Amino acid sequence: MMHFDSLPHPSPTPDATRTQLIADPGFGTVFSDHMVVVDYDESLGGWQTPTIGPRQPIPLDPAASVLHYAQEIFEGLKAYRHPDGALGLFRPEANAARFNASADRLAMPHVPPELFIASIRALLDVDGNWYPAVEGGSLYLRPFMIATEAFLGVRPAKKYKFIVIASPAGNYFKSGAKAVSIWISDYTRAAPGGTGAAKCGGNYAASLVPTGQAFAKGHDQVLFLDAVERKWVEELGGMNLFFVFADGTVITPPLTGTILPGITRNSLMALLTEQGLSVSEAPYSIDQWRADAESGHLVEVMACGTAAVVTAVGTVAGPDGAFTIGAGGIGQTTAKLRETLVGIQTGQIADTHGWVMR
Ligand code: PMP
Repeated sequence: MMHFDSLPHPSPTPDATRTQLIADPGFGTVFSDHMVVVDYDESLGGWQTPTIGPRQPIPLDPAASVLHYAQEIFEGLKAYRHPDGALGLFRPEANAARFNASADRLAMPHVPPELFIASIRALLDVDGNWYPAVEGGSLYLRPFMIATEAFLGVRPAKKYKFIVIASPAGNYFKSGAKAVSIWISDYTRAAPGGTGAAKCGGNYAASLVPTGQAFAKGHDQVLFLDAVERKWVEELGGMNLFFVFADGTVITPPLTGTILPGITRNSLMALLTEQGLSVSEAPYSIDQWRADAESGHLVEVMACGTAAVVTAVGTVAGPDGAFTIGAGGIGQTTAKLRETLVGIQTGQIADTHGWVMR
């Protein structure tokens, strides 16, 4: 067992207030009482003793490099309550691995996977009572790392903080699951050789304007095409895509460094194969998408990610007009995969893959 220094909490949230907050938590605005903080200092040999204490503002020098050059990475994963009362994390080792891949790209130190996972477990131990007992609810974990060294030169910092916070999350599908509508952006998300495969804050800052445009036009999500030819489908603002064809084949855009290697994406590839579908990673153009939707060859499009798990894409709109996939609703494959994946995550379906850490 890894040792955490435990700092006392002077004023944890009263039970009645917490009960009220987790009754309808929405997403990302309610936070649990504690946080894990681990300091990294190159001159002290790296990672220091982890602490778990009250969730509170972090002292940060105004010259801290994260504030100037955005040396920051993060992860997002959910804990679900299982029927026997235990909390289960979905593939946290995969988040730890992706975190370190992001760290490599942002010239940051690795967080040892044991430390990454022990930090999440330590937080769940003290804040498990923040789990929202609502249909479709979960406890969302947000591990992140920032460069804290006060230094204005452009070079990798020598000091960092790794922090984990938790946020109770409600049902993503408040008004019942429905197919999403997406807007094809003129903006691009990531160029070859850029940071597209890393989960760094800068990627999301750059996505705010395109996402805002999609929202302003009445769509749920933004679709990014590749930055070179501007025709290959990459991913949505926060989800990967799968295309399901009438002949039982499925394709998903390949991991060429410009899209985020989603953990849901990787899990769906395994589940689709087990369900007898033939999945391949292959480039798919927006023109082909439109043609296949119109001919009926394309029967379903799935968007997937930690937040919404698996959802259907119903309509696609862009400057050249809109088109619909199938009847614009939720198809069979999408519904079945969603049920399977949610079942595994919540402990209702046997976890034959070793994906769940209880
Ligand atoms: N693409 C982007 C840009 C994302 O932010 C996310 C959410 N992490 C995903 C895809 C889906 O990844 P995951 O399945 O690991 O949540």
